[in-house]
Amino acid sequence: MTTGKTALILGGGIGGIVAATRLRQRLGPEHRVVLVEKEADHVFSPSLLWLMLGRRLPGQISRPIAALAKRGIEIVRGSIERIDPAARTVRVNGAEIAGDHMIVALGAEFAPELIPALAQAGTTSTRSPGPNRYAPRWRN
Ligand SMILES: Cc1cc2nc3c(=O)[nH]c(=O)nc-3n(C[C@H](O)[C@H](O)[C@H](O)COP(=O)(O)OP(=O)(O)OC[C@H]3O[C@@H](n4cnc5c(N)ncnc54)[C@H](O)[C@@H]3O)c2cc1C
Repeated sequence: MTTGKTALILGGGIGGIVAATRLRQRLGPEHRVVLVEKEADHVFSPSLLWLMLGRRLPGQISRPIAALAKRGIEIVRGSIERIDPAARTVRVNGAEIAGDHMIVALGAEFAPELIPALAQAGTTSTRSPGPNRYAPRWRN
């Protein structure tokens, strides 16, 4: 019978990646660290500012989430549809995943439409917008 526990980490953003890597470093191999993320790549949000100015390319501020597997972190790629905090289970791609401990690091939902006229007045960048989408506007 295994004595290992499963740490379920929801979200592969800054908080989720730090939690997963630190736990993996500290926990013995009998324990599992499972990270659930809907995107293929982690985008380092603070560097979006450099991307907007054309000082970085998208590939310079993102890394594949799958690379964490090399560190012994199990990756589940998919969108979390439901969280049951009492049972410590999540539904991902229609399947239930259970953990002994759960860290929720799903970030924030941006809602620029709630601020009148914001969309007309400016641009919000919360994910990689593609190569230098904003740079020409900033240069003018
Ligand atoms: C332009 C910009 C500049 C910033 N600059 C700074 C700075 O200089 N210093 C600073 O401290 N902070 C800065 N921040 C804020 C910082 O990026 C956030 O505080 C930080 O990313 C929050 O980390 P998090 O792990 O909570 O969420 P996030 O990093 O947003 O990660 C959440 C993750 O959850 C995933 N996710 C969400 N919903 C689901 C779902 N249903 N299923 C599966 N996965 C899901 C997302 O894809 C994402 O990968 C900046 C943010 C932006 C946008």
